[in-house]
This record gives sequence, structure tokens and C-alpha cells, in this order.
Amino acid sequence: MILETADIKSVLTSSNTTQKMYINGEWVLSESNQTSNIVNPANGELIGTVTVGTEEDAKKAIEAARKAFYENGWMNSRARDRSELLLQISNKLEERKEEFAYLETLNNGKTLRESLGDVEDAVNQLRYYAGLATKPHGQTFDVPDDIQAMVVREPIGVVGIIVPWNYPLVMANQKIAAAIAAGCSIVVKPAEITPLSLIRLFEIIDEIGFPPGVVNLVLGSGRKVGAELVSNPNVDKISFTGGTDTGIKLMKSAADTVKKISLELGGKSPNIVFADADFDTAVDYALYAIFANQGQVCSAGSRLLLEESLYEKFVPELVRRAKMIKIGPGWNDGIEMGPLVSEAHMNTVLNYIEIGKNEGATLLCGGNRMIEGDFGKGYFVEPTIFGDTTPDMRIVQEEIFGPVLAIQTFKTEKEAIELANGTAFGLAGAVFSQDGAKAQRVIRQLRAGITWINTYHPTFNEAPWGGYKQSGIGRDLGTYGFEEYLETKQININLKVEPSGFFEGQ
Ligand code: NDP
Repeated sequence: MILETADIKSVLTSSNTTQKMYINGEWVLSESNQTSNIVNPANGELIGTVTVGTEEDAKKAIEAARKAFYENGWMNSRARDRSELLLQISNKLEERKEEFAYLETLNNGKTLRESLGDVEDAVNQLRYYAGLATKPHGQTFDVPDDIQAMVVREPIGVVGIIVPWNYPLVMANQKIAAAIAAGCSIVVKPAEITPLSLIRLFEIIDEIGFPPGVVNLVLGSGRKVGAELVSNPNVDKISFTGGTDTGIKLMKSAADTVKKISLELGGKSPNIVFADADFDTAVDYALYAIFANQGQVCSAGSRLLLEESLYEKFVPELVRRAKMIKIGPGWNDGIEMGPLVSEAHMNTVLNYIEIGKNEGATLLCGGNRMIEGDFGKGYFVEPTIFGDTTPDMRIVQEEIFGPVLAIQTFKTEKEAIELANGTAFGLAGAVFSQDGAKAQRVIRQLRAGITWINTYHPTFNEAPWGGYKQSGIGRDLGTYGFEEYLETKQININLKVEPSGFFEGQ
């Protein structure tokens, strides 16, 4: 699936046009009068210009969402209608899936095959939640005292959705789909550097014609626009995906209004390989675990925990395969790894590589920015693997969010579990072993929310996504992700309508 340069350009909105925010059913420029340049990380070229929103813009969007929900009837909208709206978005997105995939690749840098997978995922998320909206929710209880007790589920209200740059479309889309299915009104803020696919999704939303104010898009920085969403008392809930440091700030700010929050944060996930694992499968997934999307994956298998007896055989093969990974602009045929998302992020990753060397880890391969020829125009970093690490090293403890793997070794099952759980994070983890009982035993000991046996990375919209420990609070996706946007109301109905007699005097 290759487009010529001319076609790539046709996917883009001209950078002479300032792309707008979507507030109260209208496309608007920010009164800041500022614009921000959006850059293709594979070659540094300008691929779009967008308006830069402010706190004031966020307030307008929140007000519109609040009015739509509380005054204009969205609170009592019918599940069947919401389901229909989501299906319409999914159909239009599916019709344009190649265009969206190209746009994602041009803005984020990921390979076209990964972008296409993301768009397909987004289509499926919309359909999944369209279905879930109309399914039974609530409970009834058998209680004493001639009371019919029941629980109804109601939309939580105005939701602020804040997402990062590593899956710009799919991260926002999964929250949008669940929140709309639940009946909330929303204000979405993409990462400042990757807004293009989301702006285009809102073009579809605009075409379909939601009631004004139900879905809003604000552009701008997390520091201003994001922080306003979190602190504003008129936002009922924040659904956030991003770094743990940001999550901590957010939680503190949300506390002032006792705002409901769900946080999908960072990870430093262990991929445990026992000596009895299927060798080729384990090597293959060890690469995929860390180098998919250039390692910019919250659930990346960034720590490879190898049984010591396997080290001599496993590591040379892993390094050989890492060196064979085809790197280049994500839209070129056969490319397996693209650039990092931005120059600033590339520098963070390169800095971690220096930290690893200074800490005394052995650099087994990679370690450099790629600067030869056209590579120099983009933000490409070689697949990098460190051996001889110790648990206290920063490259073992901290999320690097790039193509950097730290190998740790263990002798016993107990040691593997201790090392695996030995960070502040608890997002994901995997075990490779042909001993089914052992694999399950170890998985059950991992303090992590997303786990795999003899595979790494497959995720499904039907199943909950989220972490233990400092990897977050709450879940996205599946029925659990739907719950995040619902309140729970108890209704007690007296079946015997007569005075209670609690006070005797009549
Ligand atoms: P950040 O935490 O820096 O940013 C995430 C979003 O939050 C961005 O939209 C950002 O805006 C915004 N933001 C920044 N500061 C604030 C603030 N004070 N108040 C409100 N919003 C704010 O993360 P990155 O974009 O760097 O994304 C990478 C991180 O995301 C990694 O740690 C990764 O693990 C995590 N992640 C977690 C996932 C999960 O499901 N657990 C999935 C994907 C990523 P802006 O950037 O525009 O300034």
C-alpha cells in the first residue's frame, strides 16, 4: 500500500490553512491568534498549521458541553440514537481508512501498517460501543420492607478527554466512543504535536450532525488547555492517558473539585522468557514487544527478563534480528520502524541511552541517532539493547518510551517474579514458557493489568485496558471502559403506599 508523493500531499490539509477547533458544533479559531506548526517526524517537513487554544477556549467548550448535557436534553438522549450516531461515524471512518492511516503516519511517524491497524481498531471500537449502548444496564434487588430496590446507570455528565501522541486517533476514539455510548457530552484535547487525525475525525462528526456542544475539540497545550479541563468545576470527569508524572499533577488538581478521574499511565513492563520457551517465538516477540511503534507504547516490553541459562543462545540472535529491522519513513513499503515522534522526544530517548552507558550497562546494539542521508532530516534512533543491567539502574526503572530494551537475568521462578514486579509501574507483562502451569503461576503473581502468555501486545477492544500501581486508575475498553462514564443511582420504590408509623403522634 504505497502512495506516491503527490498522493501523500493530497491527504494533507494545506499548511496555508489554519486548522480549527470544534466548539458547540462550529469550527473556530482561538482568540489567541496563535498558530502551531505540525511537523512530519520522518523528514521535518511542515504538514499542517493549527490554531492554538487557550484556557478561555477550553471554558467555552466546557460551557457548550454542559449546556448540551444539562439544558438541551443530551442527558436524556436515547441509547438507540447514540448507538446510531456511533455507527455512522464508524462507517464513514471505514470508508476513509487509508486516508486516516496516511495522516496518522505522516503526523506520528508510525509505519503505515501500524496506522492502518489503528484505524481498523478505531472503527471496531465505535461499533463495539454502539452495540453496548443498547444492552441492559442496571440491577434489581430482593430487599425487605415491601420495597422494590433497583439500580439505574446514568451518564456521568461532562467529560474531559486528554490523550497523548503515541496513538493519536485510537486513544481518543476509544474514550469518545465509550463516553458517547454512555450518554456523556465531551471535550477532547489531543496532544499538541499530533492533532491532525483527530481534527479529521471531527470533520466526520460534524458531517453526521451531533446536537451542538455534545462533542467538542480543543487544541493547545496540556499546561493551559489540559489543566483547565482538569481544574474546571463544570467538568464532571477526566479520562486521561499520558505519562505518570502528568497523571500525578492531574490527580492533585482534580482533588480540589473531587472530580472523577481515570488514568492510563506509563509502564516498564517485563517480558519474562524461561529456558523452556519456544525459542523462535520468544525471540520474535521480544523484538515486537519493544520495537513496535518505535517503543513508544505504554505497554512495551521494555525489560526482557531472561532465564540465565538461555542468555548465551538468546541474546546474539536477538541482537542479530534487531540489526535487521528495516527503518525509514513509515509510508514506504516494507518499513518496520519509523522515526520517533519529535526532536524533543528523540533527545529524551538519546539522553536515556547515555544514562544507560554511564550507569555501566553494556550496549549490545544500536545507541545512536541515524543521520546518514535523508535519515538526518528525521528523528530516527537505532533499535538499542542493553545487557548487564542491575535493578537499580534508571534504564531499568524509568519509562524511556523509545526503542531501548534493558535485559535482566534470573535463575529461579521466584527471582523472575521479584524482578518483574520490581518497579513502580504495573501496566503489562508477559511470560514465555512451554510449561503451561508455570506460565500461569507466574502470570498470576505479576502486579500488572494487561498480561500475555507466549505472545506480546495483542489487545482487544472487548477486554479492559489499564494498570496496577503507578500505571493508573480505572480501565479503558470493554464493559469496564464503559463503566467509567456511568454514575450509579439507587432507586427504592415503596410497594405499600401508607405512612411509615415511625413517629407515633398523628
Ligand atoms: P504527557 O503526560 O506528557 O501528555 C499526555 C497529554 O496530557 C497530552 O495531551 C498533554 O498535552 C496533556 N498534558 C500535559 N500536561 C498536562 C497538565 N498539567 N494537565 C492536563 N493535561 C496535560 O504524555 P505524552 O504525550 O508524552 O505520552 C506518553 C505517555 O503516555 C507515556 O508515559 C505513556 O506510557 C503514556 N501512555 C499510556 C497509555 C496507557 O494506556 N496506559 C497509552 C499510551 C500512552 P500536550 O502534550 O499537548 O502539552
